[in-house]
Amino acid sequence: MKYISTRGNAPAKTFTEILLGGLAPDGGLYLPEQYPQVTRTELDAWRNLSYADLAFAVLSKFATDIPSSDLKALINKTYSAQVYNKGRADSDASQITPLRTLEPGVHILELSNGPTLAFKDMAMQLLGNLFEYALAKQHDELNILGATSGDTGSAAEYAMRGKRGIRVFMLSPNGKMSAFQRAQMYSLQDPNIFNLAVNGMFDDAQDMVKAVSNDHAFKAKYKIGTVNSINWARVSAQVVYYFKGYFSATKSNDEQVAFSVPSGNFGNICAGHIARMMGLPIGQLILATNENDVLDEFFRTGVYRPRGTDHTYETSSPSMDISKASNFERFVFDLVGRDGAKVREFWNKVDSGGAFDLKGSTYWDSLSKFHFASGKSSHQDRLKTIRELWEEYGVMVDPHTADGLKVGLEQRRPGLPLICLETALPAKFAETIQESLGRNPERPTVLNGIENLPQRCEVINADVVKLKAFITANVPD
Ligand SMILES: *Cc1c(COP(=O)(O)O)cnc(C)c1O
Repeated sequence: MKYISTRGNAPAKTFTEILLGGLAPDGGLYLPEQYPQVTRTELDAWRNLSYADLAFAVLSKFATDIPSSDLKALINKTYSAQVYNKGRADSDASQITPLRTLEPGVHILELSNGPTLAFKDMAMQLLGNLFEYALAKQHDELNILGATSGDTGSAAEYAMRGKRGIRVFMLSPNGKMSAFQRAQMYSLQDPNIFNLAVNGMFDDAQDMVKAVSNDHAFKAKYKIGTVNSINWARVSAQVVYYFKGYFSATKSNDEQVAFSVPSGNFGNICAGHIARMMGLPIGQLILATNENDVLDEFFRTGVYRPRGTDHTYETSSPSMDISKASNFERFVFDLVGRDGAKVREFWNKVDSGGAFDLKGSTYWDSLSKFHFASGKSSHQDRLKTIRELWEEYGVMVDPHTADGLKVGLEQRRPGLPLICLETALPAKFAETIQESLGRNPERPTVLNGIENLPQRCEVINADVVKLKAFITANVPD
């Protein structure tokens, strides 16, 4: 299996060759030359597999240059009940992603039972093991530099902690995260994890990361890399749970289902799109946004118009507060019949602050072939959905999952079983749960008292020189 760029101007590469990198050299994103197809016989054989065995079956089709026995060992180490046991008291950790049925035909797929209580652990935990494996083979090292306002940074740290050949330098805005989020990240004592609390806002931290990455000599000398959501291995790992959710919610492979997906950077739902292209019987992919509705706007009107940070709202489902969806280009590549020149033309407009409009083109007509639906959800919708779920089913959901449920129930085609992806646990968002239910969220018992653990973090000013000095001091020559 080779990977090609969505902009059509980069040499084809293998899974391992693109594993540690980011964008293709032409600025595009990598995708398989052709999506591997899953036959009906395979689907039947996969139906009763454990999560780890299913992950091996799916990922063997993508990571074709990793020896099977190595891939199997990495996957078995990743998808174990000991890693994904932070869910609700009655969740079955051996399922890794248990399906919770609210009523016949309405389900929640629990993707948030990993170490940081968010679905990003599903892919990031595998990435940690893949990175360690690949770096050991190449006798190389990697220093991951990132900025976070919560979810992604902690998922990366929990995936990379204790891994040989890897260090993580994670910047976060000093005093701007919740006590729980701070405790989650700063209580890690692993010597390869460095938390840097920046005196400033998230954007200041982000700018510092960009400044270091733009210093190509420094970046090369100190082997600086990232783990952002465009990483292909992350997307491919997410394909697995669409299969798992489908098998859990259906009795036979003749049935179709709808998935609803709380979306931000389009990474999660892009994996659903790929699962459908591989032959999984998905009748509908329902994309849910919050007030930051660039993607809903596209699926309703054909116009993709990213917004500036000054038009990005801070909402109570903060992990969906995006103005530009970094993985969306992958879907558009398929939508335009894999015409790299067309993608270049569109992203020339997007990268210079503009928009593109598909309405009236043949691409707009072919959109229906991909079975997407979309909708948006507001703060009031979230509060209402959280309350209704709690009252009707005794199930507490987080604000992001509430967005997915609201839009999913609104948009589902009658007759299709609905599987809503749970992207975080309510314990992470106590303030909104309080506002909706007047009580605190349940917290996995293993995380009780996490705020009282000793914390390890370095406070620095928003100064790139200071950041480089810190990295230099902590990376041996
Ligand atoms: C990252 C995240 C999302 C958005 O997922 P994308 O892959 O960026 O679309 C939704 N909910 C939660 C809780 C997240 O952490």
